[in-house]
Amino acid sequence: MTELIEIRKIIPPSFKQENLGERILCYRPMKHGMPHLGIEQKGSKVIAHNYGHGGSGWTLGPGSAKYVNSLLIDSPLGNELSNKSTPIAIIGAGLVGLFTAYDLTKRGYSNIAIYAEKLDSLASHNAGGLLAPVSMDNDHAMQAIIDQIGIDAYRFYDDVARDKNSDFKQGARLVPSYFNSREDSGLEAYVGKVMNPAKEVMLDFGNGMTRKMVVYDDGIFMNTALLMSELHDFVNAHHINIVVGKINAFDELKEKFIFNCSGLGAVELAKDTALVPVQGHLIMLKNQVPENMNYMILVYFGEGKTEANQKVKRSFYIFPKHLPDSAPQDIGVIGGTFIEGGSPDKPNLKEYDSIIDEANAFFGIK
Ligand SMILES: Cc1cc2nc3c(=O)[nH]c(=O)nc-3n(C[C@H](O)[C@H](O)[C@H](O)COP(=O)(O)OP(=O)(O)OC[C@H]3O[C@@H](n4cnc5c(N)ncnc54)[C@H](O)[C@@H]3O)c2cc1C
Repeated sequence: MTELIEIRKIIPPSFKQENLGERILCYRPMKHGMPHLGIEQKGSKVIAHNYGHGGSGWTLGPGSAKYVNSLLIDSPLGNELSNKSTPIAIIGAGLVGLFTAYDLTKRGYSNIAIYAEKLDSLASHNAGGLLAPVSMDNDHAMQAIIDQIGIDAYRFYDDVARDKNSDFKQGARLVPSYFNSREDSGLEAYVGKVMNPAKEVMLDFGNGMTRKMVVYDDGIFMNTALLMSELHDFVNAHHINIVVGKINAFDELKEKFIFNCSGLGAVELAKDTALVPVQGHLIMLKNQVPENMNYMILVYFGEGKTEANQKVKRSFYIFPKHLPDSAPQDIGVIGGTFIEGGSPDKPNLKEYDSIIDEANAFFGIK
């Protein structure tokens, strides 16, 4: 008996010059092994580290903040935190620092200050927006913790998407997420707990090109720039002070309790040599048809070399990213590259052309 497979029609976006917007180069903070989620006493300070989430910072962010905050509050090192007006410092105003402030505020802490070198154009704003625990380093021994953090984060975004979180009005949506295989998604641990099983479907692009893929219909798209703006609204509404400037050593801060959410800044601040930048290229799309962009796709290609002779893992992804205050038809982002150890002096600009070639090839656009 032949197996029946659902056919889904997707009208491809256009990747002509007039449909391509800003080109963005940015860096994932990836810690080898797994993100640093732990606490330590350093002289008179108690430091809670929360950095190094690679390409999954948004996927894990709310769960990761909950996990590290609990770790400190429930530890003997955090005894004084039974007093909710104890001064607390957070270093970093990317998504990790802001979700840390959000979670602490929801637990009743009222004396929080955020210290950050930069507030805008961070990796956290630029990220694509697919919820999938991929492109990070995972120590197998820690997989159960990462899965639980991811599931907690999924629950958070699912509430936002279903309008059950009064602090976030927008920013997350349920959107079908397509991959070549279940393994590629990293989402199988979520199935049966917060997600439904994936199914096989045939995508038909209406131009003769079809592709057999797996889809999670309850995938989550996180509109990253919009969520950053909503997180800042929350921080402002709760009178959390943001002090702009670089912190060179934990001792500079007056607070005893410090959350280190400094992303790549932790290479210097925590002297962490296992933390590496992973360069990524993104291209914003414009003049598209918004109704045709309600899906996410991530497929992997092989490894290659960039023009600067650096090792690159290539993938193609497309998400319905939309910047706050931009026109409705300026929707969509494509990527992406993973260049470990990448740096601004080697921008590998030819990767943008290969992303466009891969986008056209994927959709069968001649
Ligand atoms: C191309 C690309 C695509 C991505 N797509 C996705 C995706 O689809 N899904 C997903 O889940 N994730 C994605 N990510 C990953 C995600 O963007 C990162 O994991 C996340 O942004 C890391 O957040 P962060 O808060 O740790 O760091 P950042 O956003 O870099 O923020 C760090 C903060 O710390 C501050 N800081 C650093 N050092 C100091 C210091 N010494 N003193 C004071 N302040 C300091 C900085 O100024 C900044 O405010 C993507 C990343 C890239 C690059």
